[in-house]
Amino acid sequence: KIRLDTVVKTFETFRAVHGVSLDIESGELVALLGPSGSGKTTILRMVAGLEYADGGAIYFGAENATDIPVRDRGVGFVFQHYALFPHMTVAENIAFGMKVSKVKRSAEAIAARVGELLDLVQLSGLGERFPGQISGGQRQRVALARALAVDPRVLLLDEPFGALDANVRRDLRRWLRRIHDELGITTLFVTHDQEEALDLADRVVILDKGRIVQEGTPEEVCRNPANAFVMNFLGDAN
Ligand code: ATP
Repeated sequence: KIRLDTVVKTFETFRAVHGVSLDIESGELVALLGPSGSGKTTILRMVAGLEYADGGAIYFGAENATDIPVRDRGVGFVFQHYALFPHMTVAENIAFGMKVSKVKRSAEAIAARVGELLDLVQLSGLGERFPGQISGGQRQRVALARALAVDPRVLLLDEPFGALDANVRRDLRRWLRRIHDELGITTLFVTHDQEEALDLADRVVILDKGRIVQEGTPEEVCRNPANAFVMNFLGDAN
């Protein structure tokens, strides 16, 4: 379980996150949904340890995250433009995290794990291709396989399907949901796309200007929008 307790983040004089408190249960798939500039990415980066909160605290289980070095947090990432290494094959990209991890694995163990992950993301047979030789949707599946390779406790996804067209996005949503259900991994998903959040998440957390304005299941937030902002924002998807 991950807990954010009145987390604040200020850049110079600009407060991007204003006292956000949020619980993410183990195995839950939570979407952080809000317009551009609402603080979603900043929150994700703080959970990852790429950015530090200047107020409040983040807990991984009972432990304060500031006491856990970034590489020991057990987080896997996928970003919209988290480019794969173009000079490495798909299989080498997936293996990369395992090779640099503290957990030492034999070459055979790494190859076996790469094979499992290629199956999981339904890309068996494409391991020897280079990123330039597969589609954008396939590249994001490789990025997810790479993130999962080191068995993260938490998966952080920042607009992972943002650059893709609507049909591909829809397919990837189904596919991410299936993988999430299969692995039961705690997942925090950032998006500005209402339809995507409502379709995919167990729980949606709606942000505006660095504050949570509403959280609930997709049905709850659609049925009872907390204010005019939420109503307008979700309106586009209804
Ligand atoms: P987007 O979808 O556009 O990425 P977001 O909801 O993810 O939006 P953030 O990226 O978290 O929003 O940014 C929140 C606010 O903080 C924005 O106004 C942004 O300009 C500001 N901000 C983010 N990072 C920095 C930084 N390193 N220095 C200064 N301001 C920043």
